[in-house]
Amino acid sequence: MKNYPESLRLYEEAKLYSPGGVHTSIRNVEPHLIFTRAEGAYVYDADGNRYIDYQAAFGPFILGHNHPYVNGKVIEALGRTDLFGVGTTDLEIELAKKITKHVPSAEQVLFCNSGSEATYHAIRLSRAITGAKKLIKFQGCYHGWHDYVARNMLSAWDKIGTRDPGSAGMMDEAIDNTLICTFNDLENVEETFRQNKGEIAALIVEPIPHNVGCILPQPGFLAGLRQLCTDYGALLIFDEVITGFRHDIGGFQKVAGVTPDLTTMGKAMANGFPIAAVAGKKRYMQRFNTQPGGDVWFAGTYNGHAVGTAASIATIEMMENEPVHEHVFRLGDRMRGGLREILDRLGIEAYVAGFGSVWTTYFMGFEPKHYADLQHNDAEFYVAYRKKLIERGIFKMPMNIKRNSIGYSHTEQDIDDTLEAMEAVLKDMKN
Ligand code: PLP
Repeated sequence: MKNYPESLRLYEEAKLYSPGGVHTSIRNVEPHLIFTRAEGAYVYDADGNRYIDYQAAFGPFILGHNHPYVNGKVIEALGRTDLFGVGTTDLEIELAKKITKHVPSAEQVLFCNSGSEATYHAIRLSRAITGAKKLIKFQGCYHGWHDYVARNMLSAWDKIGTRDPGSAGMMDEAIDNTLICTFNDLENVEETFRQNKGEIAALIVEPIPHNVGCILPQPGFLAGLRQLCTDYGALLIFDEVITGFRHDIGGFQKVAGVTPDLTTMGKAMANGFPIAAVAGKKRYMQRFNTQPGGDVWFAGTYNGHAVGTAASIATIEMMENEPVHEHVFRLGDRMRGGLREILDRLGIEAYVAGFGSVWTTYFMGFEPKHYADLQHNDAEFYVAYRKKLIERGIFKMPMNIKRNSIGYSHTEQDIDDTLEAMEAVLKDMKN
């Protein structure tokens, strides 16, 4: 069993200098570990404990931590370049070529630094194109921290269906122009379009809402959204910040065979290095003012920095040249299959959901179709389960309505060791 005295000591220090001692709200969970090293499938804390990591820093690590090929390419790039400000680097051109080659909706692409920036740009562009103000998003989906989208995310159960801003200090107009629909409910979406005819600029959706674990789109749902957006003159934005490059080199849009107007990407596109992108149809992308005559502002001092672009090129090259997806999908199946078998054998009510490299164990007896279904999930059981797994060297997401991610560095042995630890913990908790 692991102990963390040095982590706890350092955490007390961290709190002196930064509110809560963490730099993203969801990181404030127990135990407060301080990490000092990461390699492949493993992370190490300040006490030297090793953990098999499935949190993957909320998704970027598709290849594994400190991947030698990616890091090598970043170091090589930094040996000759960094950031120029005015002009374009060869790295930006090479990366743009790769993304437009692989991602079906990406006729053109622009780089920024985070998924939140990417969704902000995509939404503002949609408003400029349509002249409409309103945005549709789904209860439970997360698209970043900015005012356009930060409402009705992980709402308290009694807040579903109500006006639920994610933060104090948000603009009322932004909150009220973002309409909330129910995932997997096309009738509900159509009714919202009908009631707001001519006023909807865009519909933004995580094609698989991984911010609530893994709620799969029902057959025809994404195609139905495509049709409704076309019928009502709104842009369809696939927020592929998690699904992009993780589920396929062409994103989940390639898997689903549904092409949105705009796509946002981040996380797995660069295996942990900071870069994100907004992409889409050329006739729309040309409205950005990076193009002479464009009237939609697009800027950022660090856009296209060598660190992110070199890392992303290297990550995509790995996917082009090695069986990355085949490996992580196979291990995902092994994890889900093994876990289902253990849960069945122990008679614990749970639904193991997932796709490819991603899995979630909902402690409830049926497949959730949308956020409100997750009221049945036993979150307290999960918190205790996670804590005990950490003591055994398995590092998972802080909430089970988030997802766990497998990377190219994980081995079959890692999965089997994890299953063994899970079985021991679950057995213990059952007794
Ligand atoms: N979109 C999705 C689907 C996300 O999961 C996230 C972050 O988790 C974002 C956008 C925001 O990305 P970032 O944290 O890089 O700003």
